[in-house]
Amino acid sequence: MIVPILVFHKIGPVPQDSRFPRNYVRTEQFDALLGSLKRAGYESVSLAQYVAYRRGEESLPRKPIVLTFDDGYRSNAEIAVPIMRKYGFTATIFVVAGRLGRTNDWDVEERQEPLLTADEVIALRDEGFSFGSHTVNHARLTSLSPDAALDELRASREALEALLGEPVRTICYPWAQHSDEVRRLAREAGYDSGVGIRRRLNRDETDVMALHRIPVTYLDSTWRIRWDLFRLRFRR
Ligand SMILES: [Zn+2]
Repeated sequence: MIVPILVFHKIGPVPQDSRFPRNYVRTEQFDALLGSLKRAGYESVSLAQYVAYRRGEESLPRKPIVLTFDDGYRSNAEIAVPIMRKYGFTATIFVVAGRLGRTNDWDVEERQEPLLTADEVIALRDEGFSFGSHTVNHARLTSLSPDAALDELRASREALEALLGEPVRTICYPWAQHSDEVRRLAREAGYDSGVGIRRRLNRDETDVMALHRIPVTYLDSTWRIRWDLFRLRFRR
């Protein structure tokens, strides 16, 4: 089965002073995209459900799609969730375990925006949203020693599992930076899947520790994304 995974960061107006405006998708743009996906028959599944399908443990709807959010901004809860609710979509949110309730201080030059608090994460879990790890400190895993990388991977999984009371088995590599070594360490730290960023769809043979995600930016029209979801079926 061919399964697309989309990645978003922040939903809302693009601030004038943003250094990385491509991390934004405007509210009305997000609404239009989800409405279009809904009308096209897409049904969202969590990343954990997709991985369970890959293990042969679960079946997927006819036209599955995985929606993911990186960093866990509060605007995900305030802006994106009501729109997802309207269309019946769910998502997997990758939070930075050591930054809950703080800001994106790993982006030293970017404007700072609030991140979800632990209580907000619990409330979203109760509403059916899923969570994965984005490490403890938004660490660039490829530049850490193996011991330090393993610690970021393991400590974030354990902290999030303690908070959520459920298994956290997917890692989102910060800055989409991973390597053979990082993927091996992620498995050792207890993850069964990992996501990066690459404009490809996922096939039954795609490495589950290096799943592809299509980034959506404020520049992408609904038709650009819909066209990608079509044309990439023919790209390996
Ligand atoms: Zn990130």
